[in-house]
Amino acid sequence: MEDIRLAASLFFEKNPGSKNAARAEFSTLREAKPGRVAKKAFGEHLQRCHPGCSTLNLASELDADRDGYLTFEDFLVCCYLFQTRPVCRQCKAIAKLVFYTCLQCFVEGKSKGPTYDLCPKCYRDRNKSSHPHNLFVDNYALANIIRIPPKDLPIEAKIGSSVAIGLTMDKLLSGSGN
Ligand SMILES: [Zn+2]
Ligand SMILES: [Zn+2]
Repeated sequence: MEDIRLAASLFFEKNPGSKNAARAEFSTLREAKPGRVAKKAFGEHLQRCHPGCSTLNLASELDADRDGYLTFEDFLVCCYLFQTRPVCRQCKAIAKLVFYTCLQCFVEGKSKGPTYDLCPKCYRDRNKSSHPHNLFVDNYALANIIRIPPKDLPIEAKIGSSVAIGLTMDKLLSGSGN
């Protein structure tokens, strides 16, 4: 969680509006001690706000000093995860570090729908007939595919990566004003 905490603080440095929104949300929670919300109340809040997500152990994981209470800093880590990570389609847990995304849904999803993502455990144990596509890459490999399409990828992936690159390039070009 240490890297995630650092990434969360960097994220909110760049997004002060999101940080203000998070502060407003945190202020609606009942403080059991000054600046601290009991883990149970925090867990219940998470379940209310993210009903489609399994948040069972999240409050414990976010409790950095393991005292049973969560601070605003812990809450920011939670907000950061929900704003930047996908929820596993099978177990409904939020992906913290590594997730596997269906390359085809990733490419097509840009205009047609959401991505299809799995946590490592669900990716390993997945029933291959539960999703129509079979080409998954982890989030780190995905970044590399967009950067340099590997020569030995199956044709389906080559098409996928070239479309992804096309979309990325389009975005970059439109962003640069050319
Ligand atoms: Zn999962
Ligand atoms: Zn798919």
